[in-house]
Amino acid sequence: MIELEHVVKNFHADKKDSAIHAVNDVSLTINNGEIFGIIGFSGAGKSTLVRCINLLERPDSGNVRIDGVEMTSLKPKELYKARTKIGMIFQQFNLMPSRTVLQNVAYPLKDMTREQIRERVRELLALVDIPDKENAYPSELSGGQKQRVAIARALANDPTILLCDEATSALDPQTTGAILQLLKDLNRKLGLTIVVITHEMEVVKNICRKAAVMDAGKIIETGDVFEIFSSPKHPVTRNFVRTTSNLSKIETLIRDDSPLVRLKPGEVMARLVYVYADVSEPLISYASRAFDLEINIILADVEIVSGAMVGGTVVIFNGERERINRAIQYYRDKNIRVEVIQDAGA
Ligand code: ADP
Repeated sequence: MIELEHVVKNFHADKKDSAIHAVNDVSLTINNGEIFGIIGFSGAGKSTLVRCINLLERPDSGNVRIDGVEMTSLKPKELYKARTKIGMIFQQFNLMPSRTVLQNVAYPLKDMTREQIRERVRELLALVDIPDKENAYPSELSGGQKQRVAIARALANDPTILLCDEATSALDPQTTGAILQLLKDLNRKLGLTIVVITHEMEVVKNICRKAAVMDAGKIIETGDVFEIFSSPKHPVTRNFVRTTSNLSKIETLIRDDSPLVRLKPGEVMARLVYVYADVSEPLISYASRAFDLEINIILADVEIVSGAMVGGTVVIFNGERERINRAIQYYRDKNIRVEVIQDAGA
């Protein structure tokens, strides 16, 4: 278990300047075996917070405990040992360019014979699915393969925790998907606790069950990823979730007076947001038939987050006003949030 208690980390860019409160009184618990996301806009303090977990940054105050061990009170030798149980990967992979894959992965391995090292590296390369790249140099690898090498190196000493600092931010979407799948497999196979820092919502939605949202050095919201995305509480989280949703495009279409969103008399445009997971019925076609309405879908953004449906649609209702109102009530009864965006009047 990773336990952070009132962790504070300030930076002083210049002696005269006031301090930058990179991490400002953060308390957080991450359970063993979890894939936990730390999300937020750039500069929020995510990297600094995660570097406090393995004491790459020493907190100015507060406690960092890993499986009950107080990290800040360890002597240098003990800290070195404790750190071998915490692997870390980065956006830029941080491989040594003049060494082969084998040498890169072998780097953290100590007190082993050449043969043992070779055997261990082969095991690790098989685990990350690049068994044939042992003698390649980093420059001969794709981004995804480089990150696999970095993951193999991070796992060399059988860590219980893997910290991922924007680990997929330099990769294309398809490679990102493959690396996330690998992380999920490692989490399952090895029982690895994984902490994922990212500014990419897709990443969190894809692999994390729980997450914390950071802003200005503080954790402003924490909980189930599904809850965070379906009903964000803090305005910054709402903004964050909104900027990643396709549904936010409707505001731009309205502002640009797009013909797509110009209403005819009697029409109502609404955003339907699925807040709960139990959306399995054909909601649009059912309401269209039941209330004898035309329901035109303008935008849709429905995704599976942690195995449940999240998202919504922007629709235009066309029909008798009383029927439109009944359809809206029907959706509300189904726990779907209905937000009328424009109303052309009855
Ligand atoms: P994030 O990972 O969310 O982008 P960071 O933890 O990298 O955020 O940075 C948080 C704040 O701390 C930023 O204002 C950043 O400029 C500052 N910061 C981070 N590292 C240092 C450092 N070594 N020296 C001075 N300021 C830093």
